[in-house]
Amino acid sequence: MLLARTALLLLFAFGQCVLGASKSYYNVLGLDKQATDKQIKSAYRQLSKKYHPDKNPNDPSAKDKFVEVSEAYEALIDEKSRQDYDRYGHEAYLQRQQQQGGGGGQHHDPFDLFSRFFGGGGHFGSQGQRRGQSIEIKVGIALRDFYVGRTTEFQWDKQQICEECAGTGSADGHVETCHTCQGHGIRIVKHQLAPGMYQQVQMQCDACGGRGKTIKHKCPACGGARVVRKPATVSVTIQRGMADGTKIAYENEADASPDYVAGDLIVTLVEKDPDLDTDNPDRVDGTFFRRKNDDLFWREVLSLREAWMGDWSRNLTHLDGHVVRLGRPRGQVVQPGHVETVPGEGMPKWHEDGDDVYHKTEFGNLFVEYVVVLPDQMDRGMEKDFHSVFQKWRGKVGVDLHKDSGRPDPVSHAGHDHEEL
Ligand SMILES: [Zn+2]
Ligand SMILES: [Zn+2]
Repeated sequence: MLLARTALLLLFAFGQCVLGASKSYYNVLGLDKQATDKQIKSAYRQLSKKYHPDKNPNDPSAKDKFVEVSEAYEALIDEKSRQDYDRYGHEAYLQRQQQQGGGGGQHHDPFDLFSRFFGGGGHFGSQGQRRGQSIEIKVGIALRDFYVGRTTEFQWDKQQICEECAGTGSADGHVETCHTCQGHGIRIVKHQLAPGMYQQVQMQCDACGGRGKTIKHKCPACGGARVVRKPATVSVTIQRGMADGTKIAYENEADASPDYVAGDLIVTLVEKDPDLDTDNPDRVDGTFFRRKNDDLFWREVLSLREAWMGDWSRNLTHLDGHVVRLGRPRGQVVQPGHVETVPGEGMPKWHEDGDDVYHKTEFGNLFVEYVVVLPDQMDRGMEKDFHSVFQKWRGKVGVDLHKDSGRPDPVSHAGHDHEEL
């Protein structure tokens, strides 16, 4: 009996041990021990939205995860508490928390914490909850990034809930109910229309601005406004071949306020004109490709000799630096304005699943249009040579343009009998 109990105890202790070893707030947030505050915040933003009970009405375990994420965030975002956590480990840290705190601990209501990030009352599924406007931001992306794919960051001025006062607007945390409106935020004003006849009008309380609450000592950081506007950094991933104008939605990442749940931030990827200094360090020709959906366009200039006589080649450097070879053997003519199709050298075709082992990335076409430039001037000797060559051949192989055109014979003009070469 005693033996059995010991075994059970041992088993219990062992179980604790395993749990203690595997569980860590870092794991909960999907981070490693070197994570920065920025990463911790970013992980919280993502996971708290993912596990929010309002979003997972059919999954009771989501609530536990939601609570856990908020505990992990609070334990790691505070410098002192993070030091303790790193020093004592998960289990011992929790025990110390319980001993020290005893109710007055550091942990907030997880919904309260959530509302500090996303506003409102910490919920976004419930009806009647006001929702902030969505904000659309256009971000200029170089063609190269659409071709190769890239994760980049941009900043915008975002209205954020003041961290200093946790969105109360008060320096000392004291918020009082407005005396003028008794906290209703509205006043009823009676207008006399005629003797004995009144009209009742609801007006916003001007003493508290309709909030129903007043603050004696305003927070110095936000001046009592409860929100501050400051740069927020957003990470954006451009997948290979994404279309120009692709919209990426960031749920609840628009302006935040304690009065409403933040709307969505919509980021539109717009192809920007190439900036030679910043976007083209390798000086690739591809920077000047023009894109239309999955195809790319390029204009190549040939000299008269090249267009006519052939025997030329070009190395076109593509957006990722690989080389596309163009050329003709001797004797092959390229007509001015001719468009050559180079299959597979266009844009990668975007696929919602991204690149994976089950499908190879397909590419559009590259269309090369040839422009032929005639020389402005010709060396006298060369001109003479050409002239005699043309004279020699015009009679033999000249083309009668008039005959070719199929138009009826002109009556009066006897002039041009031959137009050639
Ligand atoms: Zn009031
Ligand atoms: Zn403040």
